[in-house]
Amino acid sequence: MTSNLSLLALLALVVGATAAGVGCAAAPSDDGNTAETTASALETKDHSKITGASCHDAKLPEAFCTRLQQEAFNVDHNEWTDLSAHSQTEFGQSTCDAAAATQKRLHDLGADVRTILGSDHDSASPSTANDLAHALGRAMHTIQDNCAHSGMSNEQHAWLDDQDVCVAPDMNPDTKPEALQCAREESAAVMTAFHDALVAANMNPADLSAATAITESNPSRKQACTFIKRWKQWDGVDSRWDNELTRRDFRKTLTTAFSVEARTADLCADGATLTSPTQEPKVEVTDPWCPGLSIFCIGE
Ligand SMILES: [Zn+2]
Repeated sequence: MTSNLSLLALLALVVGATAAGVGCAAAPSDDGNTAETTASALETKDHSKITGASCHDAKLPEAFCTRLQQEAFNVDHNEWTDLSAHSQTEFGQSTCDAAAATQKRLHDLGADVRTILGSDHDSASPSTANDLAHALGRAMHTIQDNCAHSGMSNEQHAWLDDQDVCVAPDMNPDTKPEALQCAREESAAVMTAFHDALVAANMNPADLSAATAITESNPSRKQACTFIKRWKQWDGVDSRWDNELTRRDFRKTLTTAFSVEARTADLCADGATLTSPTQEPKVEVTDPWCPGLSIFCIGE
């Protein structure tokens, strides 16, 4: 923390950082309503923006794009404790098991899309459009989160957020420009595949205009504060997996499931390693002086 940083500014940063939550949330509010943040990249509002932009680029109806980005936004609120939803590793879980869990989630959500498209549905009904947005939006959140998290644990993520606020800026993985770019690229590829799946299922994309809107909800302050304290359990070992390898696989897993049941191969088959080629050296986990975080989390 710089000595001339005002408490107000610090708290603004703290809100942005703690709100990163499982890695991607906007400023949390006790009433669950949307709030603005100070940070700039892959936070909850960016899931919404990137998802909406890729949907518009695919020329899908406005109402569907709105619902889709709301579904992507709400993953941090609705699936806060499911780390596979955020491309992360549970405490004590192996990298291969965590990657397999994310892979399974994406397969299952892609299969949900395929089931809806293959069922005897009313193409122009709100439920068809909304159900498609629910499955696809949740999957896009996970695909986008992989760009920022690449399997890191919440303990590591909390440490990086804590360092970002209190010691050295630009350590929050959710604010890395390359993560944002990766999320845009992956989202565009997924939306193209989704559009192709609609056409292959003889569904008129214009029918998705029947989608209806839902409320966007943030994680609570309690959830954010529980998260930010988890750095104390981190062992200092960078647990990220290979982003280039997994982003290709996760995209293929999801988009293949749009049309066929076949599963993609286990990422750790044949003893393959998923270790990140940019793995950081082990760090000493020490307690930084960070009053803003304590103030923000008073009572939590
Ligand atoms: Zn997330």
